[in-house]
Amino acid sequence: MDRQQINALLEALPLPALVIGPSEIILGANDTAQALLGQGMIGRHFITALRQPNVLDVVEATLKHGTTHTTRYLGNDGAQDTTFVVNCAPVDIGQGAGALICFEDVTHVEQVGQMRRDFVANVSHELRSPLTALSGFIETLLGPAREDEAARERFLGIMQIEASRMERLVRDLLSLSRVESEERQRPTTEIDILQVIGSVLHTLQPLALDNNVEIKTDFSPDEVLLPGDQDQLQQVLTNLIENAIKYGGKDQQVLVRATTTLDEPTVRGPAVVVAVRDQGPGIDPVHIPRLTERFYRVDSHRSREMGGTGLGLAIVKHILNRHRGRLRIESRPGHGSEFRVILPMVWKR
Ligand code: ADP
Repeated sequence: MDRQQINALLEALPLPALVIGPSEIILGANDTAQALLGQGMIGRHFITALRQPNVLDVVEATLKHGTTHTTRYLGNDGAQDTTFVVNCAPVDIGQGAGALICFEDVTHVEQVGQMRRDFVANVSHELRSPLTALSGFIETLLGPAREDEAARERFLGIMQIEASRMERLVRDLLSLSRVESEERQRPTTEIDILQVIGSVLHTLQPLALDNNVEIKTDFSPDEVLLPGDQDQLQQVLTNLIENAIKYGGKDQQVLVRATTTLDEPTVRGPAVVVAVRDQGPGIDPVHIPRLTERFYRVDSHRSREMGGTGLGLAIVKHILNRHRGRLRIESRPGHGSEFRVILPMVWKR
C-alpha cells in the first residue's frame, strides 16, 4: 500500500487515526488526527507526534510484539479537557508489521461518569448531616438525658426537624428522577395556568403569613390554556414562589405576574410568561447560570436553615424542558430577583 492509499483509507475512518510503519515513521494520518495531535506529523518519527508516555508505550508494544493495546490520551480542545481511548492494533500494509492507532473521544462519557459520582457524593453528604444529628440525639436520649424531661422535649424537637429535612431531600430526589425520566414525553392535557397559580398561592398562604410576606398578583387575561402537566407546573410555581417568600425576606412583597404574548421569541410563538419577583437581597450574576444545577446554592447555610434541599430549581428546569418552556433569571444584588417562566401555549380565544 502506498502513502496515498493509506491516507485515502484513513480519511474514510470516522475517528482520528494514523498509521505507523515498521521503521517507526508515521506513514499517514487523517485530518481529524492532525487536528488533534498537530499538523505536519506525516513522515516524522511517532515519538515527536504522540509524546504522551503511555501512548508511546502501547505503540512500541504493538510494533514489537504485533499485539493490540489500548490506553488513554488526555488532551484539551481549547474549551475543555478531553479524554480519548487509544486503540493501537498491528497492521501489515505490505511493508512489514506496522500499527494502526485510532482515538475514540470518550470525553462525554467521562463527564457523565463524573456527574454521577458527584451526584452520589452530594446526596451522601446531604443525608449524612441529619443522620449524624439523629444518631447523636438518640444516643444522648438513651444515655445521659434519659431522665431529663426538658432535654428530651428539646432533642425530640430537633430530631423532628432533621427527620423532615431527610424526608424533603428524599422527596425531591424522587421527584427529580421522575421528572427526568418523563422529560421526553410532551404533556397533552390542557390546563389553565392561572388556576394552577391560584392553587399554589392558596397552598403557600400559611408560609407567606408566617413570614409576613404579602403576595400581589397581576394577571391580565382571566384564563390561559396550554398543554401541560398540572402537578408538574404546580411544582414549578411552588418552588419559585416558595423561594421568593423564603429568600425575599420577612415583611416584604412578592409579585406574581402573568402575561400572554402572541409571539415570544424564545419559544417561537404564543406563550405565557409568569414572573415571580421578590424584594430580597438579589443574586450575584456569577451564580445565576449555575442556580439550576443540582445542589448548587449561593449560601448553603442559609438554604439549609430554611429547609432547602438545593434541588428545587433543578426540578424546575427539567419540568420546563418537558414543556418546551424556558426559565429566565434576572437579579441584581440589593434589588431583588425575578424568576420568569415562559411556556408555549395553545391560543384558544
Ligand atoms: P434551595 O432548596 O436551596 O432553595 P433551589 O434549587 O430552589 O434550592 O435554589 C438554589 C439556590 O438559588 C438557593 O439555595 C438560593 O441560594 C438561590 N435562590 C433561589 N431563589 C432565590 C431568590 N428568590 N432569591 C435569592 N436567591 C435565590
